[in-house]
Amino acid sequence: MIPLAVSKRIKDSTRLECRICWNVYDPVEGDEIEQIPPGTPFSSLPEYWRCPQCDAEQDKFLPLPEA
Ligand SMILES: [Zn+2]
Repeated sequence: MIPLAVSKRIKDSTRLECRICWNVYDPVEGDEIEQIPPGTPFSSLPEYWRCPQCDAEQDKFLPLPEA
């Protein structure tokens, strides 16, 4: 689960970066490895979803500033 303080701050289009390995979750792309369809916001990821590169939990991700 992502902390409520974070989930309130992110929009459906917000990308989040893993602070362990710098992997970026982009809602536009989803996650092929976990079969997350493109267009899935970070806040809608299933509970079991973790960083595909380092297995960090969702609360290790930090929102990136909007481009
Ligand atoms: Zn990671």
